[in-house]
Formats: sequence, C-alpha cells, structure tokens
Amino acid sequence: MGRVDNFLEERKEKGLLRALRPAGSRDEGRIRFSGRDLIDFSSNDYLGLSSHPALREASIRAVEQFGTGSGAARLLSGDLKLHHELEEKTARFKAREAALVFNSGYQANVSVIPTLAGRGDAVFSDRLNHASILDGIRLSGAKMFRFDHNDADHLEFLLKTERGKFKEALIVSETVFSMDGDMAPLAALVHLKERYACAFLTDEAHATGIYGDNGSGMVEEAGLTGKVDLVMGTFSKALGSFGAYIACTTQMKEYLINACGGFIYSTALPPSVIAANIASLEVVRSEPFRRTTLLENAKYFRDGLSDRGLPVRGNSPIVPLIVGDNARAVELSRTLEKRGYRVPPIRPPTVPIEESRLRFTITYYHSKDILERLLHDLVEIC
Ligand SMILES: *Cc1c(COP(=O)(O)O)cnc(C)c1O
Repeated sequence: MGRVDNFLEERKEKGLLRALRPAGSRDEGRIRFSGRDLIDFSSNDYLGLSSHPALREASIRAVEQFGTGSGAARLLSGDLKLHHELEEKTARFKAREAALVFNSGYQANVSVIPTLAGRGDAVFSDRLNHASILDGIRLSGAKMFRFDHNDADHLEFLLKTERGKFKEALIVSETVFSMDGDMAPLAALVHLKERYACAFLTDEAHATGIYGDNGSGMVEEAGLTGKVDLVMGTFSKALGSFGAYIACTTQMKEYLINACGGFIYSTALPPSVIAANIASLEVVRSEPFRRTTLLENAKYFRDGLSDRGLPVRGNSPIVPLIVGDNARAVELSRTLEKRGYRVPPIRPPTVPIEESRLRFTITYYHSKDILERLLHDLVEIC
C-alpha cells in the first residue's frame, strides 16, 4: 500500500522510525539485552512492585483457583467477586464513593471521554496530555480546545470566550505529566471547573501509588479529593501490575457500566491480574518506605543535575533531559547504553518537534550510588 510505504519512508528519513527490542529478563531495576545487564531508567515500575512476592503469590493463587482467562465481559459471565473487591478497595484508596476497573489506561481514556462529551459539547485539554486522552477527545466528536501546558490563565481565557457556546464542557489534565515530569496546577483547575460549570477528569497514571499520605495520587496530595469528578489512574505503573480505574460517584459508575463501550464490550481482566492489583494496594498501604525512598532518589538525581549545571524540568521521578535534535537524543542514549544504562530517547510525535529528549524514570531501585555514577557519566558525555 502506498500509504504504508510513504509512512515508513518518511519516518526513516526523519530518524523517527521505532522498533521493538525484546529483553531477556527484567528484574529489580535491571534489564537484560543480548546477554548484557543494564540499569533500567525506562520502566514505570516506580516502586518495584512488579516483582514483589505479595503480588506474585496473589497472582499464582488466583490462577490456581480460577484459571487464566475470565471468559467474557463483566456484564456477561466475566464478573467475579474479586473484581468487586478490587473496586471497593480502590474506592477506599482514592477516598471516593466508587471505582470502576478498566482493562488499560489507554482503553479507559479512549472510551470514557466519549461518554462524557459529544457533538455540541467542548473539551478543554492540556496541550501535553497523553495520546490516549487526545484519541478519546477525537472519538467523542466534541469540539477540542487545547490550553497551553499547565497554564490556568490560558484555560480561563478559553473558557471565558468559548464555554457559553457549548452545552456540556469537560476539562482534562494529567496530574503528573508523563514526558515532562511536572504537575498540573490542580487547585486552579478545580476553581475554573467550578466557576465555568465543567466536569473535570484527571489522569493519575504517573501519580497513583506515589503521592499523598496514602499514596493515592496528586489529587490527594493537593487536598482536592472529591473536587475532581473523575479520577483515572492505572495499576500498570507504580502498582506493578496491569489495568486501570476510574474513581467517581456511585451514579457515575452506574452510568459508565451502562454507557461506556470500552467497559461493556471488552473481556474482563483475568483473575490473576485483579488479584495482583488487590495485593498492590495492600503493599502501597503497608510499605510506605517504597514511595519515600523513590521520592528521595528522584530528588537526589534532580539536585545532582542542577548542581552540575544540567537543565532540569519538572518535579517528579520522571526526569527529562531535553537535547532538541532527534539524532543527538538517539546518540546519547547509545552512549549511555555502552556505559551500562538503559535510557530511552523520546522523539516526536510523543513530544513536540525540537524537544527530543532522554527520559530518565527514577525508581525505588536507583540507589544514591547508582545515581552518583550516572551523574558523573552524564557530565562526561553531555
Ligand atoms: C501510561 C499512560 C496511560 C495508559 O495506561 P496503560 O495502562 O499503559 O494503557 C494513560 N495516560 C497516561 C498519562 C499514561 O502515562
């Protein structure tokens, strides 16, 4: 097909072609490629829960008891008591009335947004929101307005001029941004959503398990629990497992069960995954030292970069080092790999043009020794 040829040619010419790369193994913050162990700065397994014995054992027990697949969508026969136990625990974790589990974060965003907005409605979306949010808005048929990244003044300007022309309106923002590691001005966004009568959906994919006294996310940390209509988050990153949730009111949950295609028409997550998710919430509660250590490691790395005059952005375990040029980002990533680190180059369209970067994801496993050595190497090669 001409379309396929042209697409691949163009990506190749621009140095933007992506390719898979299978790892031999992955454990405790290391990843093995072609028989060589690298320290992994590309995983979102922030707390190291994907190899935690409590999650492994819960998963194995569930397979032994229920088998591997769940056989059908939840509204048919795929619904186990286990799914409800997870939803009750998630609702309690997020301090909300209810929670509904989705098969992935991508699926949640893509299918929930079109149930909240449609033709004649407006969605106001941060310019740097995740691809799944953008796809959900496009699919909804609502008019999209993109406000400048984390710029509540620009959002207010758009609301002032545009809100009145639409029936319903939705504001969407990540809480911790996946490629920049900075945080949304949540209090300002809540103020605007109330003032301009909008619904508010936040994506806590990179905050769940990490922020707030209970580790439930940035909405908790900001003291805004209950002020955000729908809080989406994932079990696939800091929680070390798979799947996603929407925390909301009981009424909203009932609506989604009845109106959301991504929930209705997809097979329920397997019992082993649900059981691991339940165990992950227990571990977040009983082992808060994991998130404390993670945040200390992230701060150590950020401070180390600025002490050495390297540019730092954001304020989370996601640390982007902007290099601009695509080829340069790839070359730096290769150099780091030769020195024993896996640090992915992130290029357009994942990030804006001219903003190619190395993206370091700091985890629980990145001790001060490891980070000190990495900082030393970065000064030498940058
Ligand atoms: C990873 C991510 C998602 C998708 O979640 P999956 O469970 O991996 O499908 C959605 N939103 C953001 C901001 C993410 O970083």
